[in-house]
Amino acid sequence: MNSLTDTILKMMDTTQELEDYKGEDGLLYCGKCHKPKEAYFPQGKALFGRDRHPSECDCRRAERERQEKKDADEMHNVEVERLKQEGFSNPDMRQWTFANDNGKYPQIGKAYSYVEKWEMVRSENLGYLLWGNVGSGKSYFAGCIANALMEKEIPVCMTNFATILNNLFYGSENRNEYIIRLCSYPLLILDDFGMERGTEYGLEQVYNVIDSQYISKKPLIATTNLTPEQLRNPEDVPHARIYGRLLEMCVPVRFTGGDFRKVTAQQKMERLKKLMDR
Ligand SMILES: [Zn+2]
Repeated sequence: MNSLTDTILKMMDTTQELEDYKGEDGLLYCGKCHKPKEAYFPQGKALFGRDRHPSECDCRRAERERQEKKDADEMHNVEVERLKQEGFSNPDMRQWTFANDNGKYPQIGKAYSYVEKWEMVRSENLGYLLWGNVGSGKSYFAGCIANALMEKEIPVCMTNFATILNNLFYGSENRNEYIIRLCSYPLLILDDFGMERGTEYGLEQVYNVIDSQYISKKPLIATTNLTPEQLRNPEDVPHARIYGRLLEMCVPVRFTGGDFRKVTAQQKMERLKKLMDR
C-alpha cells in the first residue's frame, strides 16, 4: 500500500528547473514560457495531502506533442515497411513511386487520381487494365499506385501469376489459405497478366483468384501485353472465363509509345558515344 502511495505521490511531483519560480498564486511557474507548471485541485480539495497537481506549461506540452508525433511517425514507418515487405513479390517494385517518376509516362495522372479517389474506386470496385507493349510503363504505373496506397497504410498485394502458381505448387502454405490470403487485400495487382502458360490447373487457379476478388467486390488492377481485342477473343473456354471477368472489373488504359527500356538503353548508348567522341 505504501509503495502505491509513493508511486502516486511521485507522479504528482513537479520537476523544478533552475529558472522556474513561484508565482503570486503560490504555484510553480516555468522560467521559459512563464506558464504554470502546477494547478490546484478544484474547490480547494486535496489528494494524498496535496492541494496541487502537475500541469503542462507551453514548452512541456510542445515537447510532449513532438514526442507523440515522433512515436506516431515511427509506428507509421514500421507499418509501411511491413506492408511493402509483405505486399510486393519483387523488391524492385518498391522503386516504382510517384517520387521517382521523371515525367516520361503520360498516363501517370490516372494513377494519381486512382490514389486520390481510392475510397470511391474501392467502394465501386473499379480497377484498371493496363495494356500495351513491353516497357511502356504499365508496371511502373501500377507500382506507383501500390506504393502510394501502402504509404497510407492500405494493404496492397502486387504480384504476378508466375509467382502465384509457383507458390501454389511449391509453397509451404495450404493452397486454399494462400488464395484466401491473396484475396484478403483491399487491392490486388496482377503484373504481366497473360504471360502464364495455360495448364488446366493453372488456369483454374487464375480464375479462382480473379473470381474471389470479383465476388468480394474488391478492385483488381492487371497489366498485360495482350490487347483488349485479344482478351475479347480468347482461344478457349478457360481463357474466356478469365478474360471475361477481367474486362468486367477493369477499365482499359492504353500504354503506347516506345519501349522506354529501349529508350533508356539508347540514351545510354548516345551518352557513351558523346563521351568517346571527345
Ligand atoms: Zn514552459
